[in-house]
Amino acid sequence: MSTQKNVLSCLQPTGELHVGNYLGAIKNMVQLQQDYRCSYGVVDYHSMTMPYKADKLRQNTWSLCFQLLACGIEPENLFIQSLIPEHQELCWIFSCVTSYGELQRMTQFKDKSQQVSQQDAKQFISAGLLYYPVLQAADILIYHADYVPVGKDQEQHLELSRNIAARFNHQFGTEYFKHPETLFTETPKVLSTADPTRKMGKSLGEKHYIALIDDEARIIKKIKSAVTDTGDNPAGEMSPGVKNLFILLQNFGDAAAHESLLEDYAQGSLKYSELKQTVADATVSYLRPIQERHREITSDKRRYKDMIKASSAEIRKRAQQTIREVRDITGLQSLKL
Ligand code: AMP
Repeated sequence: MSTQKNVLSCLQPTGELHVGNYLGAIKNMVQLQQDYRCSYGVVDYHSMTMPYKADKLRQNTWSLCFQLLACGIEPENLFIQSLIPEHQELCWIFSCVTSYGELQRMTQFKDKSQQVSQQDAKQFISAGLLYYPVLQAADILIYHADYVPVGKDQEQHLELSRNIAARFNHQFGTEYFKHPETLFTETPKVLSTADPTRKMGKSLGEKHYIALIDDEARIIKKIKSAVTDTGDNPAGEMSPGVKNLFILLQNFGDAAAHESLLEDYAQGSLKYSELKQTVADATVSYLRPIQERHREITSDKRRYKDMIKASSAEIRKRAQQTIREVRDITGLQSLKL
């Protein structure tokens, strides 16, 4: 067994990635590959919990894979969840050591079920939405993850994964499952360019986010029209919109430009048009190699799809091993083939 620590992280296939996803999660996921055994899942089963179209899910799953590869995720570390059905089996086993009450208390369940019923009072709220964190626990524990890099919004789900591991271990008198640790990183929270009082996200609409694969003209347009002043900022404090532009510059530009513009700001001589131009140029040049790589990958989709299917099959072997052991621990049957 490898002595390297395991890192696990998953992303839902919901379309285009934006710079918030990149700075908040993906950049870190790419770096972690140097020191840990990383497994990164495109979790399509999770996308079934809210209303969706089959064709769109299929398309989004591959599109997310291609974007992650373009960002620098190694193909051998990437898997598609539905190619590893063992996640589902472990989800069922875990659902029997999870109480209905604790799932109902998950804030994400409350938020999302409310979101669905607000759209339409008669709208269907799936049991899958309730089960979602149990499947997430299975995604993590099936690979004996030591670390899970996530945003603060996932803290409660990670706590549940640890509770599930502890309850399973207690019930079966074993120390089989590890207690995965959350890896909170110094990742910035990137705000919407059109409404910097909110987090950058796709659900807000196209003008609110900068997609990693937006073309140059679109990136420039979005940054140039970024809101800098929301009107309700306490005197003497940098407004969230300006802070957001500085975060982008700090991550995408060079340190000298960042420092010199910050100095201008401190002296009250900063021109927002100059800041926006510098941020736009820096973002365009930072994203260029990612976009070039993305073009290369999408012009040879067959090859990359085969690679990801092969890596999923390889990663699946670890999940199958866990399931064999879990079946034995829990008294389930196995066919010895
Ligand atoms: P999502 O697709 O919203 O679930 O996000 C995938 C990953 O990107 C999660 O780890 C989030 O914490 C991170 N993320 C999403 N939006 C932002 C943002 N605006 N700023 C920083 N990180 C983000």
